[in-house]
Amino acid sequence: MNALAATSRNFRNAARILGLDAKIEKSLLIPFREIKVECTIPKDDGSLVSYVGFRVQHDNARGPMKGGIRYHPEVDPDEVNALAQLMTWKTAVADIPYGGAKGGIGCTPRELSKSELERLTRVFTQKIHDLIGTHTDVPAPDMGTNAQTMAWILDEYSKFHGHSPAVVTGKPIDLGGSLGREAATGRGVVFGTEALLAEYGKSVKDLTFVIQGFGNVGSWAARLIQERGGKVIAVSDITGAIKNPNGIDITELIKHKESTGSLLNFGGGDNMDPNELLVHECDVLIPSALGGVLNRENASSVKAKFIVEAANHPTDPEADEILSKKGVIILPDIYANAGGVTVSYFEWVQNIQGFMWDEEKVNNELQRYMTRAFHNIKNMCKTHECNLRMGAFTLGVNRVARATVLRGWEA
Ligand code: NAD
Repeated sequence: MNALAATSRNFRNAARILGLDAKIEKSLLIPFREIKVECTIPKDDGSLVSYVGFRVQHDNARGPMKGGIRYHPEVDPDEVNALAQLMTWKTAVADIPYGGAKGGIGCTPRELSKSELERLTRVFTQKIHDLIGTHTDVPAPDMGTNAQTMAWILDEYSKFHGHSPAVVTGKPIDLGGSLGREAATGRGVVFGTEALLAEYGKSVKDLTFVIQGFGNVGSWAARLIQERGGKVIAVSDITGAIKNPNGIDITELIKHKESTGSLLNFGGGDNMDPNELLVHECDVLIPSALGGVLNRENASSVKAKFIVEAANHPTDPEADEILSKKGVIILPDIYANAGGVTVSYFEWVQNIQGFMWDEEKVNNELQRYMTRAFHNIKNMCKTHECNLRMGAFTLGVNRVARATVLRGWEA
């Protein structure tokens, strides 16, 4: 099941549990606005090339729409639509005053030079500048885009509307980016894990962890787990997997990866079969790489007691059912990886205030938001006798539905 089908299914289940009126349900599903624009740029050799850019603005009942812009050859309107919808529920779960959006350009960024990427980003911004804005729709980086892309959007947008640092988040620090943003998603994953474990009288320091993916999210989560005394006993990335039952020294592993470009042949562990990683014995499994990695084929062999979904959509619905029958507790992606968008919100707040928070304040506020959201989810689970995924969906959907009704948009 793809991301769109899974999101719509979770939404419909949540709507049924909440007893949502059919009119509200329909209005929440249909995106507020779908934008499709032609972006033609001269390449460095003088030839012209055209790309299609998308922005789906899903819902703004709770505030400006928020979501990433990805540059990827397979960007398609259906997927952008699903991801925009997911952002609406995610921002509501985190209780930040935003709606949801997502966008992208169908291109292969590694085949474009830096100046071509800059021209493409500026043309895209020219085409959508009157539909995004600090209080309308606030883009951020996603696959294939980064802080530099946001700097170009900010610059191009400001030519039309005056200096507007809060029109995008995930900016370079020198242009109003927030301290703590780089680590925010991984840090949020760890705060969420701590809140979950506390419910079971456990803490990070007593447990073993397996992490799939050692990029931004996975490596920060690993670092912070080690800092808290937890044992990361296996890690993988695209280059392979390693294990050490006594705990991998994450600081040394980061150095090893920086110097060799690979996790393999690390002195402080043994290489292992990457297919074994997800079914390795551990207390907490943290998929932090790809979608759909837990599925019908491997779910019944998973030995972890807890799964924390740092990646988007790592567990497909069939695996979800198998795992829940086995009694595995899953902390869902819609909550577990919300630390990034939460610190994006802090960045926007700082830009609007014209004031910069120190990193300690960013991290403390992130912890407060993640812990509060976890308890809000648990309350929904108690009220509706459902698992954490449905607790999170009912929480997010209910907040958006309430805002919609209060605004009087339901007629
Ligand atoms: P990243 O590109 O920095 O890292 C991805 C990691 O996955 C890399 O280490 C890569 O080697 C590894 N990987 C790729 N294929 C693999 C495979 N077959 N087996 C094992 N590892 C593999 O990306 P990221 O920013 O860390 O994002 C990871 C996940 O978290 C994605 O699903 C992303 O959508 C989600 N996410 C990220 C953020 C964020 O702020 N970065 C926010 C929300 C959700």
